[in-house]
Amino acid sequence: MNMRENVVLHVADVHKNFGGLHALADIDLAVEEGKTHAIIGPNGAGKSTLLNVIIGRIPPTSGAVVFDGEVLTGKKPHEINQLGVSRVFQTPEIFPELSVLHNVMTPAFAKRDGAFRINMTRPLDGEAAIREEAEAMLEDVGLAERIGEHAGALSRGDKRRLELAMCLIQKPRLLLLDEPTAGMSRHDTNTTIELLKKIKSRGMTKVIIEHDMHVVFSLADTISVLAGGRIISEGLPDAVRGDPRVQEAYLGGAH
Ligand code: ADP
Ligand code: MG
Repeated sequence: MNMRENVVLHVADVHKNFGGLHALADIDLAVEEGKTHAIIGPNGAGKSTLLNVIIGRIPPTSGAVVFDGEVLTGKKPHEINQLGVSRVFQTPEIFPELSVLHNVMTPAFAKRDGAFRINMTRPLDGEAAIREEAEAMLEDVGLAERIGEHAGALSRGDKRRLELAMCLIQKPRLLLLDEPTAGMSRHDTNTTIELLKKIKSRGMTKVIIEHDMHVVFSLADTISVLAGGRIISEGLPDAVRGDPRVQEAYLGGAH
């Protein structure tokens, strides 16, 4: 395994079988602090499974995930979240009945208290400060004018932005994004790339799973290519782009 000092996330020899299907095999990954590491690969390659193993939603069949010296494997998703790991899913997971503002305040309380709480009638401890922070975050992601609306009424692109704000308010040290531009128009994709570039400078480590090459090459410092549950190529974007194995497995294939 890679022992460079600035590596903050290690995935060590992870395997995941679903019955007879080897969804992940021999996965070793070393992500450096503050970098954006992209995981790309065709549909069914195992990208979402890998992300779910990292955040504790799916236990690996064998192997381990270590973040900043702490073994995450075996911990519950909320315990991993409390260690500074947040994620954006392929399908936005928001609270459709709550206002845009309350959607962003809720994970801030969850991070602070270790539980999701919302109280519409009585202010909670420190609510004013959290409200202020949530408003600033919504300003950042371009949703300042929508704070009073029901989150369920937002467009898909805006739900994505909302989910990002819900992650960012937790001030994660590791942010995982599963296809953050899936289903977006080219315009919304470009706005999201700009937003991700903006938060890139905040220094948190990011793992981004992405299908869209434009997004990957705009954002990634390093890339791992998954195909059939294995990493088939890894390195700097230009090297990966030029790797014939990658072109065969992914870039040239249907997607
Ligand atoms: P990707 O995100 O790269 O498209 P996934 O990680 O979703 O790929 O899936 C990898 C493989 O594992 C696919 O063949 C998929 O059908 C299978 N798979 C994913 N989740 C499950 C599950 N919960 N049970 C059984 N098979 C699964
Ligand atoms: Mg997926």
